[in-house]
Amino acid sequence: MALIVQKYGGSSVADSEKIKNVAGRIAKAKDEGNQVVVVVSAMGDTTDELIRMAQQVSEQPDERELDVLLSTGELISSTLLAMALESLGYKAVSLTGAQAGIQTDSSYSRARILCVDPQRIVAELEKGNIVIVAGFQGVTQDMDITTLGRGGSDTTAVALAASLNAEVCQIYTDVEGVYTADPRLVSEATKLKQIDYEEMLELASYGAKVIHPRAVELGQLYNMPILVASSFSDSPGTLICKEASMEVRNKVRGIAHDTNVAKITIIGVPDHPGIAAAIFEPLARANISVDTIVQNASIGNITDLTFTVAQSDLVKAMSIVGPVIKSIGAKRCVTDSTLAKVSIVGTGMQNTPGYAARMFRALYEQGINIQLITTSEIRITCIIAEDRIKDAVQALHKAFELEIA
Ligand code: ASP
Ligand code: MG
Repeated sequence: MALIVQKYGGSSVADSEKIKNVAGRIAKAKDEGNQVVVVVSAMGDTTDELIRMAQQVSEQPDERELDVLLSTGELISSTLLAMALESLGYKAVSLTGAQAGIQTDSSYSRARILCVDPQRIVAELEKGNIVIVAGFQGVTQDMDITTLGRGGSDTTAVALAASLNAEVCQIYTDVEGVYTADPRLVSEATKLKQIDYEEMLELASYGAKVIHPRAVELGQLYNMPILVASSFSDSPGTLICKEASMEVRNKVRGIAHDTNVAKITIIGVPDHPGIAAAIFEPLARANISVDTIVQNASIGNITDLTFTVAQSDLVKAMSIVGPVIKSIGAKRCVTDSTLAKVSIVGTGMQNTPGYAARMFRALYEQGINIQLITTSEIRITCIIAEDRIKDAVQALHKAFELEIA
């Protein structure tokens, strides 16, 4: 008898019909002889609605109270799903994150899982129950409820799968798997049968929305195979695992894009030790992640410094950078929030020259200007104008022949 963990996202449990559909799928997994642990997200846009409600009563909601409030979204979906299963004649029990043994640190709204003690889950499985766990939440040592950050249910699922030594963690969502590019932008995009953790981590971190990067990281750490598939079809999905055959390694696997990008340029920065720390430390403390950083070679000990943040963090970032500019004696600051990132990803580009040149040529042939470039060993990212993103993704998909993936 195999133990499997399934996770259903918010769109898969958005209303009662969809919850019944999901119950049917879980029942099938149980009938096939598996022990089944299910992790659910909140129904549809519940989490956004709860945030809106909090903002209606307080300009700055208390973070402890907010986390308790947000955790209730997943309680609704998990209890309803357990009821739906019972009414199909299956034994099911819902558990909160705390009951499921998910212990976290106390960073409200972005808590990290410290450990999972799955005793209660194991006991319920032994009684023959299907166990439904509320995703996205945990509990501190002091028994305060925390949430794991937006999209955190994926992380819950992989953490549980790892701690239960599950055979596989299945992430069910509203798309059929991982594609070579967003099929809404590229009609020739093809679904990947399999993808390496490392490649998936880069794709997810650079805009592919199908799975949260933290979940992929955990999967890699514990070597837990993760299947991404649709809850609305029986199409086979994409397996994220330790890759893969020789031939596919020598290729770009996919193209990610992200339109939530803003650029901040600080002009006239005195070039001496400590300046970068003075700028980036307060941003880090405010939990703003900075992506691309480019510092020009200085002339006469004065330089320019450019970096990108999420567009949604721009206002907050500027409220921090503004005062710093003064204190370090820089001249001024300009921002641009009409940008996007496009990335090519593939372990094949490691130690193989020519990928960057091919990428730049493909963009050049579309008349697309590259504003900034960053790379990792298996990724090249260009920052371009947001209104050219579709052309860029399409051109790169063609240039790297991904339609025949
Ligand atoms: N409900 C939470 C959110 O919307 C967690 C999740 O969906 O994974 O962010
Ligand atoms: Mg969600």
